[in-house]
Amino acid sequence: MPTLKDPQYRAFARREVHRRQGGRCLYCHREFTEAGELAMTLEHLKAKMKGGTDHLKNLAAACWHCNQHRGKQMNTTKLLKEAKMAKRAADARSEEKV
Ligand SMILES: [Zn+2]
Repeated sequence: MPTLKDPQYRAFARREVHRRQGGRCLYCHREFTEAGELAMTLEHLKAKMKGGTDHLKNLAAACWHCNQHRGKQMNTTKLLKEAKMAKRAADARSEEKV
């Protein structure tokens, strides 16, 4: 399997993930720019430490800002789970009103 250490695969992966997400950050959904806070960074959904691979399926694009903001102990899976739970709670609340 190719790894991100391979510059060719890394370029390919960046392009693919960028396309898959429509050129937007996974977290804040803002459009990436060439440089600065919204520069695209590639990251692993499942940390490599925990057995995550460099496969496209395990890669996501986040802007520099979100990548920094993610913090040390917060991982992507946890963030996504929290976002889902928040949405479910919001949905539940709107259903109660009906
Ligand atoms: Zn972002």
